[in-house]
Amino acid sequence: MSKQYDAIIIGTGQAGPTLAKRLSSAGMSVAIVERHLFGGTCVNTGCIPTKAMVASAYAAHVARRGRDYGVIIDGSVRVDMKSVKARKDAISERSRTGVEKMLRGMERCDVYTGHARLRSTREVTVGDEVLTAERIFLNVGGRASVPKMPGIEQVPFLTNTSMMQLDIAPPHLVIIGGSYVGLEFGQMFRRFGSEVTIIEMAPRLVQREDGEISSAIQDLLTGEGIHLRLNARCISLSGRAGAIVAHVDCQDGSPAVEGTHLLLAVGRTPNTDDLGLDAAGVTRDERGYIVVNDRLETHVPGIWALGDCNGKGAFTHTSYNDFEIVAGNLLDKESRGVSDRIQAYALYTDPPLGRAGMTETEAQKSGRTILVGKRPMTRVGRAIEKGETTGLMKVVVDATSKEILGAAVFGTGGDEAIHCVLDTMYAKAPYTVLQRAMHIHPTVSELIPTMLQELAPPVS
Ligand SMILES: Cc1cc2nc3c(=O)[nH]c(=O)nc-3n(C[C@H](O)[C@H](O)[C@H](O)COP(=O)(O)OP(=O)(O)OC[C@H]3O[C@@H](n4cnc5c(N)ncnc54)[C@H](O)[C@@H]3O)c2cc1C
Repeated sequence: MSKQYDAIIIGTGQAGPTLAKRLSSAGMSVAIVERHLFGGTCVNTGCIPTKAMVASAYAAHVARRGRDYGVIIDGSVRVDMKSVKARKDAISERSRTGVEKMLRGMERCDVYTGHARLRSTREVTVGDEVLTAERIFLNVGGRASVPKMPGIEQVPFLTNTSMMQLDIAPPHLVIIGGSYVGLEFGQMFRRFGSEVTIIEMAPRLVQREDGEISSAIQDLLTGEGIHLRLNARCISLSGRAGAIVAHVDCQDGSPAVEGTHLLLAVGRTPNTDDLGLDAAGVTRDERGYIVVNDRLETHVPGIWALGDCNGKGAFTHTSYNDFEIVAGNLLDKESRGVSDRIQAYALYTDPPLGRAGMTETEAQKSGRTILVGKRPMTRVGRAIEKGETTGLMKVVVDATSKEILGAAVFGTGGDEAIHCVLDTMYAKAPYTVLQRAMHIHPTVSELIPTMLQELAPPVS
């Protein structure tokens, strides 16, 4: 006997639970299925726990720099990793239980635990149960990719998930992958006391950013004693627990990096391989992402895909925005699409990088005539007062239309300050509006209007 609902949601990541709330508030009966931890990646192994750990690492860093601020700490600064983990676990648990409690207490919503698979265009199985609905929403997220490197089967490795169980600082953490996940873990564990080596195949870190932002990030990390191996080709692995060797063919440096622990941070794989997509005729692309249109509808009417599994975003805010798009179209008679949103994200090194819209390289490629404004954080009063002058900010505008094309704030408060640029872009206001805005002193944001008063053609 199948159980009939108005809607079935698979996964309780960043889109599913809020969608359940909207649908049930609209009077629909909803079934939501979770196979593991409520709240998904962000809550349990992603944003929330890592940012809690970044905060502990920042505290250690500031304590070590106490003298710079006239604060004397008698004795050495030590990090108690068990307490770091306990703090992180408590923060994650609060969110996880909050999501579960909300779902279990929701009117017209049944919660199922177990692995869900599509059986047809309208049926989902969870264990022995069969659920039926006219609308099915897939919010299954992704997991850490494990690359096919020679030797990978022989050596123990960590991913963002297993890192959450560590209550020690590894003596030497070797990280493969020089983008967000690798850099955040790299810097925090360096600050916890580990020796850290980051291996990256590309010639620079965070490849999607402009070269000068990548170099500033690189300087930050090497300045804290992190070893970098860029241009690493033909990576292979050997060794055993506690003594792992990454063999790399780099332009410079030794052909082997020996560490005690290995973290893989080379991207994500969508959880779409065991979802019964074929049974429902839902298509995936060559990388496993569910193919959707601008409104997040799959090729099969009545089935949507939201969050990381559709390949249209890889962040909590993009998944949440997916929920808003689907709910707006279905329940509010709006016409919303993914194409309405502007690319935005942050990298949570300390200081963080906040990014909105295009890089200078992307803007150049678009064929527009552009103007660029830049300011080092050494010329930002707030950064000087805080003793945190690493980084720079940068904005790119269209010289003809006066549209803001993109900006990056890599510096203290960069993850927050970027929003004044982002919101001006959403308002479709010319840059002159922000240029003439009076901002509060002393803030990082107050220099964004100033930077816009000093625009110049790009240096080619
Ligand atoms: C280390 C790390 C740090 C990050 N930091 C940030 C950050 O600072 N900011 C940011 O915006 N993003 C960050 N992200 C990315 C962010 O975590 C993800 O983009 C976000 O969680 C994606 O949410 P989602 O809704 O797509 O699905 P997920 O949160 O991945 O949830 C999917 C859920 O579906 C469940 N599920 C899967 N398959 C099935 C099935 N067949 N049956 C039942 N249940 C199933 C899973 O158990 C999971 O609970 C980070 C990611 C990582 C790995």
